[in-house]
Amino acid sequence: MSVEKRRAWIELDEDSLLHNVRELQRVVGRDCRLMPAVKANAYGHGDVETARLLAGAGISDFCVASADEGIRLRAAGISGQILILGYTLPAQFDALREYDLTQTVVEDSYAQELSAYGRELRVHVGVDTGMHRLGIPASDADAVASVWRFPNLKITGMFSHLCVSDGTTEEERRYTEKQISDFRKVIGELRRRGIRGFESHIQGSYGILNYPEEKFDCARPGIALYGVLSLPSDRVRADVTLSPVLSLKARVGCVRMLKEGESAGYGLTYTADGERKLAIVCAGYADGIPRSLSNRGYALVRGYRAPIVGRICMDQLTLDVTEVPGVRAGDEAVFIGKSGGREIGAAEMAECAGTISNELLSRLGQRPERICFTHI
Ligand SMILES: *Cc1c(COP(=O)(O)O)cnc(C)c1O
Repeated sequence: MSVEKRRAWIELDEDSLLHNVRELQRVVGRDCRLMPAVKANAYGHGDVETARLLAGAGISDFCVASADEGIRLRAAGISGQILILGYTLPAQFDALREYDLTQTVVEDSYAQELSAYGRELRVHVGVDTGMHRLGIPASDADAVASVWRFPNLKITGMFSHLCVSDGTTEEERRYTEKQISDFRKVIGELRRRGIRGFESHIQGSYGILNYPEEKFDCARPGIALYGVLSLPSDRVRADVTLSPVLSLKARVGCVRMLKEGESAGYGLTYTADGERKLAIVCAGYADGIPRSLSNRGYALVRGYRAPIVGRICMDQLTLDVTEVPGVRAGDEAVFIGKSGGREIGAAEMAECAGTISNELLSRLGQRPERICFTHI
């Protein structure tokens, strides 16, 4: 279907994605393999579309959150390593083998469970360096090393996760540096015991961007690969330019006038303080526009900022386009992306909704179709 036929859609800028891959690869260095996080439908970008573009750019490893996400990629013909970053129920161990997925060992008793499956499974060992979410404590080198005793585990990697690498205070930096050094210590301890042949990784986007001097075998960028930071105010230490991959757009369905004192939408939460021109747009919270942006957010129409007025509905919302000349049905409303000389970033929209770009993007609905674009 062409763009002309769509009510609400997502545009993916292929060149921006490839640009971000190159930039991140430059920061991590040639000896580090990027393992993009394409979980949660590739942060709303479309997992299959995104993974295919990345595979075309030479990326061979991917991170997902669940076995089902890995199966989707395999069904779409994605080869190479797919690492499941979270817990998989024993009832799905068959799928790990059938689809050649790499499972994270989330704690030491789980290694036992994986091995008890009875057939070889490929795993990465999770190590907890202070986030206290998943992994075997890094301080317990014996427990980490003991995972290698299980005959049915083919251990190809070991990893940890940073929890304040986006922070820039001295305390946050010290915490992150301690996490990294504890991770290096446990790697060294394993080597001393003769355990080798596994790859190590600890950095996500902010680990890469704020600790670029730290080198590991792999890195797991998510949000940065999509060309955005979590919040508009975030600053990073690496010298990179990231280019947003995703735009979110919808059509104006109709334009109407409101007289002073008239109200609009569910709950009548908006009342015109004079004569206003409203545009009803074909997108709502089911498309991924947070309802919390009711009477708060805005979109770009014909290069102008148009405030969202009234409550956002499931499938529609209302913009005040009084100041926008010539608006008519069929016009584009841009929620994330560029219009004229103006731009709304995902982080900006997320902040307005009281969240971060990661959440906003990963909650974009299935309904808007993803369309890939390239400028070349
Ligand atoms: C989601 C996730 C990532 C990617 O995080 P970003 O901050 O988006 O780069 C990396 N590692 C783990 C374990 C994750 O859960």
